[in-house]
Amino acid sequence: MWNSYGFKDDILMPNRFCAICGKTLGEDDPHFGMCLECYLKEHPLFELPDHLSVNICLDCGSFSKKDIWIEPLDNELFSIIEQVVQRFFLKSFLKQNNIDFDLSLNEDSFIYSSKDLLTSLEVVIQGVLRKDYNIKHQEAIKLTLNHMLCKNCSNLRGGTYFLSIIQLRVKDEEQFDLLKQVLDEINDFAEKTFENDHKQYISKIENQKYGLDLYLSTNELMNYLIKFLKSKYNFLLKRTKKLVGRDTQKGKNLYRFKALIKFLPVSNNDIIFIEGQNFGVENITKNKVILRGENNTKLIKDYSYFFNEKIIKKNL
Ligand SMILES: [Zn+2]
Ligand SMILES: [Zn+2]
Repeated sequence: MWNSYGFKDDILMPNRFCAICGKTLGEDDPHFGMCLECYLKEHPLFELPDHLSVNICLDCGSFSKKDIWIEPLDNELFSIIEQVVQRFFLKSFLKQNNIDFDLSLNEDSFIYSSKDLLTSLEVVIQGVLRKDYNIKHQEAIKLTLNHMLCKNCSNLRGGTYFLSIIQLRVKDEEQFDLLKQVLDEINDFAEKTFENDHKQYISKIENQKYGLDLYLSTNELMNYLIKFLKSKYNFLLKRTKKLVGRDTQKGKNLYRFKALIKFLPVSNNDIIFIEGQNFGVENITKNKVILRGENNTKLIKDYSYFFNEKIIKKNL
């Protein structure tokens, strides 16, 4: 064997010292002029990325790094974690088949979500070289677990044909905070609904220029959400339904329901400049806005007015 100086190892045999720490080398240290400890520091048996974020399906336990879902051998979380580590970290080492690996989960590192799902943990991986048990190495990796539904289960649960869509829209950037608040509330509401009935959930949220599209697993959830939003916000609502197919088994037509929600761009006490005059928003009813002018004139406008006209707000 040649060492890094270009000499054969045995030339250095008579008085050998570790090139790193200076320790005298014994018979058992034939590691290129280093003691075993230093050698292992310089040449770890294996090296792994220290972090991985992985998706795990709530229903079937399939896991994925990106789009490709892998079915687990069995649907038990710790066994899935083991399979994730083997697949995404150790695959190439396992192929070489020369290291024995041992995994352990650091229970002190477990972090759970509000729904009691394990979302983050540290996995400690120990490896021993099969032909020399003195050569070993240990690394800790952090796993982030994103619990969601795989494509398959999401279709199964929702019945894609019945998919409903809520389109939340605002008039301009000024209402983006409102939109964020609405989305937070909708998420909370949907989570609670899901806890009671696993058929009800938001399967996808898509950003649009002035709003969001929420894809819902059922038409029922759409109605719950509209009712919930009506109790808190003023908006224009337009519902549509589109025939998308026919369930031949049940002999029923299949519809896709859509609800367009346009949030009113004014709120109580806003001052608005209309037709050469300043008006204060005095009251907002279910479908009208009552305005009061500087000279006490009263003006009543439909919600749609505020979407069709350019509104100049004078709030400071
Ligand atoms: Zn050394
Ligand atoms: Zn699944």
